[in-house]
Amino acid sequence: MGTRFELVAVSEDEQLADKAIEAGILEIQRIEALISEWQPTSQTSAINRSAGGMPVSVDEELYELIRRSLRISELTGGAFDISWAAADKVWKFDGSMKTMPDSQAVANSIRHIGYQKIQLIPETHSVYLQEQGMKIGFGAIGKGYAANKARDVMRNMGIKSGVVNAAGDLITWGKQADGQPWYIGIADPAEKDKVFSWLTADHTAIVTSGSYEKFAEIDGKRYAHIIDPRTGYPVTGLKSVTIICPDAELADALATATMVLGREEGLYLINQLKGVECLMITDQDEMVTSDNLHLHYYKNKPQPAKAAIPAKTSKM
Ligand code: ADP
Ligand code: MG
Repeated sequence: MGTRFELVAVSEDEQLADKAIEAGILEIQRIEALISEWQPTSQTSAINRSAGGMPVSVDEELYELIRRSLRISELTGGAFDISWAAADKVWKFDGSMKTMPDSQAVANSIRHIGYQKIQLIPETHSVYLQEQGMKIGFGAIGKGYAANKARDVMRNMGIKSGVVNAAGDLITWGKQADGQPWYIGIADPAEKDKVFSWLTADHTAIVTSGSYEKFAEIDGKRYAHIIDPRTGYPVTGLKSVTIICPDAELADALATATMVLGREEGLYLINQLKGVECLMITDQDEMVTSDNLHLHYYKNKPQPAKAAIPAKTSKM
């Protein structure tokens, strides 16, 4: 997934911890091979190749991931949309873009986007993209799904606590080896390397979507690498959105959706959802939190989340 995953297993049995981490890594690789829109052999690629042609029968797992993705599209009014992947590449987020693209080209770039045109056929577990040129991709939900699944595999092997960390998007379960909860530091929006507040995480996923790394700056305005599928324009206004909820997949998708919805609409949505909290950083470095998020601020510094027992990493 182009993401570095770090897996932590806490156990008194070092061999078991090792084995569980291996299994977790294999699970992430298995999911990548199934859902990646970049690997030509994946089922997702088969769906994309058949767009406008015919339905493709897929594994229940992928079928269900698409079904859940469509539900999130409905929940967010299309702010989250896996058919985003069909957008023409009129934007570049590697720093090379200095002028706005032609507005006609932007309008035209979204012609094949539309989650309503993704058809699910339950009888045959088939997926049909109704228009030639349509394409789906799981860039905004796949990491979270893989994190959930790796956690499940490790937990099923008897690992009572651990962390699956996908480049800062993470899910934790249980407690640290010394019985303390996992602490998650929140970076200072103005000084990225400085942690200024923290929260304790117990069976929680914490996922951030934002324009820290990938964005375009045109005429002093910052455009994040997340596209509003409804307009074709990259989102502006928020530097980042962090979602905190028990489910990494939902957190991943909602982080992207909230970036698209923006401060007011995004906050309204998150406050409606029970058990889901968020923290937003605006382009002006202002911090906005949902109603029930309780952060701890630095007076006495907690230990940063760390592995006591073998931690292995795998780059995907
Ligand atoms: P990151 O990859 O930085 O963690 P996200 O989880 O928000 O950030 O995912 C962003 C990726 O999701 C983009 O690189 C792209 O592949 C895809 N994407 C962009 N916009 C949307 C959208 N509106 N709906 C669904 N996926 C999107
Ligand atoms: Mg996301």
